[in-house]
Amino acid sequence: MSFADAVRNDLLTVPIRKNCCRRAFIGGLFISALPDGGENGQATARFRAEAIAELGAEQLHIQFAKTADRRRVGSCGRYYEEVSFSSPAFRKLLESLRRPTPDPSETLGFRCEECRSAFLRGLFLSGGTINDPHKPVHLEFTAPIATKETVAAFFEGIGYPAKTVMRGNKCGFYFKESTAVEDLMALMGAHRVIFDVINTRIEREIRNHENRVNNCDTRNLERTVSAAARQMNAIERLRETGKLDNLPEELRVTARLRYENPDFSLDALADLHNPPITKSGLNHRLRRITEAADDL
Ligand SMILES: [Zn+2]
Repeated sequence: MSFADAVRNDLLTVPIRKNCCRRAFIGGLFISALPDGGENGQATARFRAEAIAELGAEQLHIQFAKTADRRRVGSCGRYYEEVSFSSPAFRKLLESLRRPTPDPSETLGFRCEECRSAFLRGLFLSGGTINDPHKPVHLEFTAPIATKETVAAFFEGIGYPAKTVMRGNKCGFYFKESTAVEDLMALMGAHRVIFDVINTRIEREIRNHENRVNNCDTRNLERTVSAAARQMNAIERLRETGKLDNLPEELRVTARLRYENPDFSLDALADLHNPPITKSGLNHRLRRITEAADDL
């Protein structure tokens, strides 16, 4: 089962308690349903999964007190579940989705806070996809081009403006930011799977942070080691040539401390002096030592 399927299964169990929310849910779920233009005003929508078609038919029945027709169509392993329904109220709802509007919550008849969640949930079950949490973040809803303005205005209205992309005769509305995707998942009610998403993100963030720290440590260590090696080399040459004793007292002290502690960081080495000296003071002395060796 794909992660998107797990999300769909989670959404299928969310109860719908009010008529206003059910209407919003039906609007999202049947956004792709097209009226057939016949006398009875029948509209038909296709779903990939039987469970989604079943829920759609069930909600239509509760809302409009009428039974929807369901049938399986397709061939060669690609099957769809078709749900056909005719009702003036249903038809009006579908038409309102295709009417450009700056405020879809009004035309779609949202009455309470949960209506937005219900609409979003229907929209995802109708044609939504989401990447597995281990892959790059991507949540996408698709809807017919005729409903593009309504859906875009809906996402604007809830504070999550979507990026759009053409997908054949449909429009994709997508999100690639972790926080937006998590918020939208919570809003549509995918409460069981959202913990997987958040946990995976936190694990990834910790791993990235550790990698950054490790890389940084390694680089610093390499720098420290190569600088120390240069200093050790300089001190040895000064020693061999007897020039070390000609250096001022302070440089001889520093040279000795460095020579005895080749693996010490600059901070540790500065502290070792009596009295301790500053890091920049130490740097200055070490530079004079290596310069003295270079002059040989
Ligand atoms: Zn409601």
